[in-house]
Amino acid sequence: MNQFSYSESDAFSVEGKLALPYQYFAGTLGSEFLVSLRDRRKLLGRRCSRCKKVFVPPRSHCEHHLDAPCDEWIELPGTGTVRGFTVVRYAEPYQPCPPPYILALVALDGADSSLVHLLKGLAPSEVRVGLEVKAVYAKDPQPTILAIDHFAPAGKPRQELGYSYEELELGMTASFTKTITETDVYLFAGISGDFNPLHMNEEYAKTTAFGTRIAHGALPQSLIAPVLGMKLPGLGTLAVEVQCAFKAPTFFGDTITAKATVEEKQAEHKRVKLRCDFTNQHGQLVATGWAVVLPPRKG
Ligand SMILES: [Zn+2]
Repeated sequence: MNQFSYSESDAFSVEGKLALPYQYFAGTLGSEFLVSLRDRRKLLGRRCSRCKKVFVPPRSHCEHHLDAPCDEWIELPGTGTVRGFTVVRYAEPYQPCPPPYILALVALDGADSSLVHLLKGLAPSEVRVGLEVKAVYAKDPQPTILAIDHFAPAGKPRQELGYSYEELELGMTASFTKTITETDVYLFAGISGDFNPLHMNEEYAKTTAFGTRIAHGALPQSLIAPVLGMKLPGLGTLAVEVQCAFKAPTFFGDTITAKATVEEKQAEHKRVKLRCDFTNQHGQLVATGWAVVLPPRKG
């Protein structure tokens, strides 16, 4: 062993810190973009002379047309729609603000590219894809992208429509499950006006073939409405026709699953037929039928 060797027990690591200040030329277009943000609080994009797509930050050429310049400045309104987001929950020295904070991918109105930026003015649990946002400029803007201090909600979230006719495929399914309580039966009696003692009077019900009170047949059947209207196809759906056959009684406390399955696509009117099955907690079929619906149209 010589004076330069060390044993395993001597191994150590050195902690240190390197500061790496840097600067770069933002380029002719980048400089114009940043100066516009700082001095005029205007977001600029650059339009391709060939495909007319608008890019932010500005580019000299789009990726498809290297032989044709992006030669036109486009002033954008600074509004957009959240297309994706993440919530940062840990702190690092290089981060722009203390956690938790939201980073959103904003599809800018008037542009064909998206910008990642801070989203403030709402709780992380409130962010939704489809949220309309607007740029909020810094009080003392510097020539960086943080001249836009952050984006903030500009309105109510756009409701995402359900599946369109084109998006629906045979075999797609969705379901909704609920336990039918005595309260549900009383409420349904009030809604429908059906106070039949079979549903209301236990002593009477004991004398029937069921031996106890049962729910209205249309009550479990109504559980298909949240499936069709909120899941499959979903928001924007119009029910055209619903058929149902009752197969077994639903007792108080039964848990019913309403399931819809896309069975047929009717091209002529762009309607879809779904098979509707209602089963209880034992897997027993309590009702079965089908529905024809008009799915939401998009675009
Ligand atoms: Zn192009």
